[in-house]
Amino acid sequence: MPFADILGQEKAVSYLKSLAAGGKVPGAMLFFGEEGVGKAKTALEFAKALNCLDPQARAQGDACGVCQSCRAISQGTHPDVVFADFLYQARLEVKKDFSSKGYEEELEKELAKQQHISVDTIREVTAKSQQKAAAGGWKVLIIDSAQTMQAAAANALLKFIEEPPYKTLWILITSKRATMLKTILSRCQPLAFAPLGQEEVLRLLAQQQDVPQAELAAKYSGGSVAKALKAAQALELLASAEKGPAWPCSVAGELSRTLAVSRVQAQSILDVLVTALHQAWIKETNPAAAQVIKRDLKKFEDYKRAVTRNVSPALVLETALMSLDGTNVKIFD
Ligand SMILES: [Zn+2]
Repeated sequence: MPFADILGQEKAVSYLKSLAAGGKVPGAMLFFGEEGVGKAKTALEFAKALNCLDPQARAQGDACGVCQSCRAISQGTHPDVVFADFLYQARLEVKKDFSSKGYEEELEKELAKQQHISVDTIREVTAKSQQKAAAGGWKVLIIDSAQTMQAAAANALLKFIEEPPYKTLWILITSKRATMLKTILSRCQPLAFAPLGQEEVLRLLAQQQDVPQAELAAKYSGGSVAKALKAAQALELLASAEKGPAWPCSVAGELSRTLAVSRVQAQSILDVLVTALHQAWIKETNPAAAQVIKRDLKKFEDYKRAVTRNVSPALVLETALMSLDGTNVKIFD
């Protein structure tokens, strides 16, 4: 059963199963929790459960995963299930045939530019929400990264999530609930997604291709697969730099020459270092030494902010790494 594929979200999943089995589904829901813990996957599985053609699976509030409807949702071709995210928006921008040469590269470029779920996207999805369901089942309209909607987009959405037509469900997904408009929040039934355990992150990493130092990456994941993947890249950069007194400079030298990329890399490395510092702080029994680490932690929060603003992420990172000199922060064990 597809819901069984979702790791570490037993509470949210069992609640959704009870909704699907009982047929009492709210008009709008908000899935919130850390990025990379399975919110989007769960939203799609819920859409499957509501539309599954297998009566046995339906009776349990689950989906069979193999019927025509389930397969169409997996492939993104179901006419009544919309998953609007940055990729969806980027695809609308590329004026080329899918199969034509250079399509993938252009899509990649468009994707990197995406920062907000736009008002145009919201208008397109709300228009769809008003049409009759083509397959006769539930219409499920999923908006990912819902916190990135600016006022115009949020306002365009408001009245549609207030009273959706019969058998229409909106699912808004966010990793930053606190930054969302109250008018949106008050219209959605919230459902919390918990951070994953280290073991679960590791199992999910094992399903991906070749994640280097997966175990260590899981340790730095904070319960999120997305963060674990970023940590794996950061660890690779840290490990590839030459050891010795010039290590900070040599790590900084490993960063990409493209500013936007190097900024993300520096951020990921700082995230790893903050976690390492935090763990060192928890373990430290000497109060004076613990105080020093705590001061370092504060400094690192400043470095993280500086990386988003500074013209040279490499310089900020080098300074941060140099400040670790003389501390007993261990990154690789
Ligand atoms: Zn099915």
